Amino acid sequence: MTTNQTPPAAPASHDSRQATPSNEPLDAIVVGLGAMGACALAELARRGKRVLGVDRFAPPHDLGSSHGGSRVIRLSYFEHPDYVPLLRRAYEGFDRLGKDAGETLRFETGLVMGGPTGNKVAAGMLRSAAAHDLAVDAIDGGQLMKRHPQFRVPADWELVCEARGGFVRPEATIRTALAAARAAGARIELNAPIDAWRADEAGVWIRTIRGAFSAKSLVLSAGAWMPALVGDRIEGLRPTRETIAWIDDAGDPSWQMGQMPVWLFDRGGKPEIYGVPAFPSMGEPRGMKVGLHCRGPEVEPEESQELPDGAIVAETLSATRERVPSAAGRACTHAKNCLYTMSADNHFVVGLHPDHANVAVACGFSGHGFKFAPVIGEALADLAIDRTTKLPIGFLSPTRYGA
Ligand SMILES: Cc1cc2nc3c(=O)[nH]c(=O)nc-3n(C[C@H](O)[C@H](O)[C@H](O)COP(=O)(O)OP(=O)(O)OC[C@H]3O[C@@H](n4cnc5c(N)ncnc54)[C@H](O)[C@@H]3O)c2cc1C
Repeated sequence: MTTNQTPPAAPASHDSRQATPSNEPLDAIVVGLGAMGACALAELARRGKRVLGVDRFAPPHDLGSSHGGSRVIRLSYFEHPDYVPLLRRAYEGFDRLGKDAGETLRFETGLVMGGPTGNKVAAGMLRSAAAHDLAVDAIDGGQLMKRHPQFRVPADWELVCEARGGFVRPEATIRTALAAARAAGARIELNAPIDAWRADEAGVWIRTIRGAFSAKSLVLSAGAWMPALVGDRIEGLRPTRETIAWIDDAGDPSWQMGQMPVWLFDRGGKPEIYGVPAFPSMGEPRGMKVGLHCRGPEVEPEESQELPDGAIVAETLSATRERVPSAAGRACTHAKNCLYTMSADNHFVVGLHPDHANVAVACGFSGHGFKFAPVIGEALADLAIDRTTKLPIGFLSPTRYGA
């Protein structure tokens, strides 16, 4: 049973010296090496800290929240203007990580989002753009169809274009971050789920199937598995199973990155439909990737491995064909499940654990967290080392619900 109440048993291997060659205790342990944990581990190692990272699987993998070839990234954040400074830093983080590895992790393809008059997406983007002096272009549906004839939307729709929008590559980001962490001296234990942890003023302990480890501080970044690790100390975490689909681009130039922007359209109270243009495959499925935001059921994380739901795929394809008519008659070549972890208010939960100043948590990314991974990694490294951060993450505090 997973608990943070019972101290892990101390088997013969309960000795932080096994994690590193010297007798120095570990500075930090990072549990969960997906988007957030891989970036936190890389950042801690880059700062010269003695760190161990553990994961229940072998990231990058397709059993959590960080797979599928692409993740949308954008600056004029409709969800809240307070995210914008973090996004600026995240853009730099992706580029630095990619440059160090000689790999492009971020693509600027342009982006358009919005819907019927008064839609909250376009209004929120304009609010963030005004608050942070971002370059965006407010257009109507008629203008969109002139610029991008591949779309069909009502002429009076309110839309916002952002040239700096685009996508990042999730699997490549995690692979690159873990390689950077390893190169800087981090130890990594894969296929080693932790089933218990404990923290007190003396330090932190975790137990895995390979034995127990101790350190000065702990980072918990276990994605959809976080409810099992933090219990009710962080309210309202709910994993959901979402389904994404790829549609054959049939070599159509108007579906390619450069010609087609990333797009998201409001559906009048139903889950928004979004799409990422086709790009030269770097191992990902080919074609235009499409999905419905927040359409899936609440699940246990293990249920992500079930077959994609045919009804959700059909709804996704039909919503796509309504807005991209050339999708009619083109085959869905691939569909895949992926996990969201919704928080109580759809905003991230990042900060110190409500009960332990030497434990940092990052969870509840509510289906929009990947684009922040490098800056969340920096914040987690700050919290693990200094127990505070200068990055503006106060609005994401785990105690904001009064825990
Ligand atoms: C379909 C879909 C589309 C999305 N689109 C976007 C988008 O366009 N833009 C965007 O910004 N975000 C998007 N997101 C959200 C984004 O991908 C997530 O917010 C982000 O990947 C969450 O990262 P994470 O590190 O919290 O979780 P993960 O990457 O899942 O990492 C958690 C890790 O913890 C490990 N773990 C779990 N339990 C344990 C344990 N007990 N011991 C050890 N290890 C453990 C897991 O194996 C896993 O590797 C999307 C998500 C989905 C599913």
